Amino acid sequence: MDRRTFNKVLTTGTMGLAMPGSFVQARQDASMVRAEPATQWPGQVYRRLLVDNHVPDWDPVFLSRFDPVDYVQTIATAGFQALMQYAISDAGLCLWRTKIGQVHRGMKGRDYFAEVMDECKRQRLHRTALFLVIWDNLAFERHPDWRFQPEEGEDKILEGRYGFTCFNTPYRDYVLSLVHELVSSYDFEGIFYDMTLWPGVCYCPYCTTRYWKEYNTEPPRVVDWDDPEWRRFQAARERWLFEFAQDLTKTAKSARPILVEHQFATVFLDWRSGVPLKLGVEASDSVGGDFYAGLTEFSLACKAFNGLNRVRPFEFMTSATKNIMDFVTVKPYGQLRVESLLPTVHSAASLTIDAINPDGTINHNLYAVLEKINRERAPYEPFLGGSLMADVAIYYDKQSMYDPDEKGAHVASLFYHQPKAPAPHFDGVSGAGRILREGHVPFSVITNVTLEQLRDYRAVIVPNVLELTDEQAAKFRSFVEKGGVLYASGPSSLDRFNKTGPRYLLEDVLGVQYKGNMGTQVTFLTPKDDELKKSIWPQNEIIHKGPMIRAEASPGAEVLGTVTLPYVDPESIHVIGSHFAQQISDPPAPTPGSEPGLVVNSFGRGKAIWVAAPIEASSDAVNAQLFLTVLRRVLPGPYYFEVDAHPSVEMTLYHQAENQRLLAGLLNMQQQLPLIPLSATVRVQIPLGRHGRHVTRLPDREMIPFKTVGQYVEFRIDPFEAVAMAIVEYD
Ligand SMILES: [Zn+2]
Repeated sequence: MDRRTFNKVLTTGTMGLAMPGSFVQARQDASMVRAEPATQWPGQVYRRLLVDNHVPDWDPVFLSRFDPVDYVQTIATAGFQALMQYAISDAGLCLWRTKIGQVHRGMKGRDYFAEVMDECKRQRLHRTALFLVIWDNLAFERHPDWRFQPEEGEDKILEGRYGFTCFNTPYRDYVLSLVHELVSSYDFEGIFYDMTLWPGVCYCPYCTTRYWKEYNTEPPRVVDWDDPEWRRFQAARERWLFEFAQDLTKTAKSARPILVEHQFATVFLDWRSGVPLKLGVEASDSVGGDFYAGLTEFSLACKAFNGLNRVRPFEFMTSATKNIMDFVTVKPYGQLRVESLLPTVHSAASLTIDAINPDGTINHNLYAVLEKINRERAPYEPFLGGSLMADVAIYYDKQSMYDPDEKGAHVASLFYHQPKAPAPHFDGVSGAGRILREGHVPFSVITNVTLEQLRDYRAVIVPNVLELTDEQAAKFRSFVEKGGVLYASGPSSLDRFNKTGPRYLLEDVLGVQYKGNMGTQVTFLTPKDDELKKSIWPQNEIIHKGPMIRAEASPGAEVLGTVTLPYVDPESIHVIGSHFAQQISDPPAPTPGSEPGLVVNSFGRGKAIWVAAPIEASSDAVNAQLFLTVLRRVLPGPYYFEVDAHPSVEMTLYHQAENQRLLAGLLNMQQQLPLIPLSATVRVQIPLGRHGRHVTRLPDREMIPFKTVGQYVEFRIDPFEAVAMAIVEYD
C-alpha cells in the first residue's frame, strides 16, 4: 500500500473537508446534541469507534485534560453510532471508580467511565466497554507470582513495555471480579475483551502444576508436532484459554445480558497464541478484531468472520493511523475510505481505532476526515445484510497454523525472536484468497469448526493443510461424491501417523497415492496439457521454492502436469569444477519429469484437483493463471456472479431472499492512491425460475438498464471511485 502522510493529503487539496460545516457548528455549541436516528443494537450499528487509551499515570498531566463532553460530542458529530470505551488498559489502571482494582490517578476523584456513558446516552451513541485481559502492567508489577513466565525467563519482558499475566494464577479471580464490578455498576450494551490469547508458552508454577495434575508429567519444552506429548500440551493450552474466555463471558452475562466479544483477530494467528476457533464461535456472540496487514488480509478476514459469526453484524477493526504502534501517521484519506468501505461491502460493522493524547485530549482534525467517510457509508446501511453468495470456499484449518520445520526447536527460541511464525498453510489460504478475489471468482472461507457449511458451496480449496482428521476427510469425500469440486495442494489430507506409513486420507478422492517428497530448494511443475501450457505461456514450467510431494497416480486419474527437478540439485552445487547449470539461477532439467504434479480425478459425481505443491501460495501472476485455468475447467459456470473489471475491484454478492433481491457490492482496492475511477460489467445469477425485475444503483436507487443473458442479469456500473453497490430485484 502506498502510504502518504496525512499532511500530504492536506496539501493535495483532498481535504477541503478539514473543517466541514457540521463539525464547526458542533464545536461552537458545546451542548449540541446531534440528530442521529435511533438504531437498534447491534444489528443496525455499522459505524463504530474506539479511542485507544493505554496511558499510565506516573505523570500528573496524563489524562488530566480529559473532557468527556468534548470527546463524546466530537465522536458523535463525526457520524459514529457507537463508542467502545476503555474500561481498563494494558497499564492495568481502571477508568471507572473501582473498589477492587487501581483507579487511574489522572481522574482525581472523577469517574471517567460513568461520564462517558452519560454523554453517550445524551448523544444517542451506543456504548460498549473495552476490557484488557492478560496484558496488565499493574498486576504484573505488584504480583510477581501472577506473571506469565516464558521458557527463556523474564529478561526480555523486563526490558520491554508489556507486562503479561497468566490466567492460571490468582490473576484469574482478580480479573473476573473486576469484570463483575464493571458490568453490574454501569449501563452499557457490550463488552470487548481484548487480548484473550497466550502471549507465548507459559511455564509458570501454576501452569506447570496444572499440567502435572491433569497429565502427571512436565509440560514439554521442545516443539514437535509428531510427538503426542507436545500435541497434548498444545491442546491443553487451547482448552485452558477457552475456559478462561468462557469464564469472562459468563461473568459479564451473569451481571447483565450484554453482547460479548473476545479479540478475534487471533483467528489468523499461529499456534503460539493458543486460540481455538471455538473461542470466537462459542465464547463470543459476535466476532470482531483489529487487522493491519492490508487489503488482502482484510478481505480474507471478512470472509472468515462472515462464516464464524453468530450475531450480525461482525465487527471489522483497523486503525486510523498506519498501525496502532504509530501514533502520528494518519492513513491517507483514500486508504481510510476504502478500508472503512470494505466492511460495508461485507455487510459488516467497521470500527475505527484512534488513540488518545497522553493528556486526555483527542485530535479533532482526524474526526473531520472520519465524518466525511461516515457520511459516505451511512446511506448504504439500510440495504445491508443477507447471505454471502459464493461458489468456492477456501478451507482454513486453525489446527494447521504451525511450521513443520520447527520440529525440534526449543520453545525459548520462538517467543521474542519470531513476531510472526511461518505458517505454510496460511500462505496457501491467503494466496488462494487473493487469486480468487482478483480473478473475480465468488469465494468465502470455511473452517475446521464450520465444515458443515461445505454444503453451501460448489468447490473447496484445501491448501497445504497439515492436519486432517478421519471425520473431516469423510466430509470432504462426501462433498465430492455428491458433485463438489475439491482442490488439494501439497500435504493436504496426509495422515502421517498411519501405522503402515504416511498416506493421504483422501487418496481415493484425489486419485494419487502419497510416496514422500522429491526435490530440495527448487522444483518445477510442467504442464502436459495444451490448455494449461497455454495458461503459463511463454513459460514452460512454473517454479516452486521447495520440495514437492512424490505421488503415484491411480488408474483413471488424468495427469495434467509433472514434477520436473532442476538440472543440478541446488544442494549439490559447488564452485570447484563450476558444478551448476547456470551460475546465478537453477534451470530445470532438459526433459520434463514423469512423476505426477497436477492430477484431475473423477470421484462419484464430483472431481478433485491435486497439485504436488501449494502453487496458490506464490504471488507470481503465472501461478494465478494456472490455478484459475484448472479451477474453471473443472468448475463450469454459471457462477453466482461474473464481473468484467480491473483485478483491483473486489465484488461481493448477498442474497436477501425475504426481499427477493440480491445486493452487489464493488470496491476499488487499488493500491496506489488517489483512486482512479473504474467501471464494470456485472452479471448476477438470479435464482432458477425467477426473472430479473429491476436493477438500481445505491444509495439513490437510480434505475440501471439491464439485460438477461442466460441465468444472469447483466448491467453496467459507471465509473466509480471507491465503492458501487446495486440491488437486483427479481420475481
Ligand atoms: Zn502460566
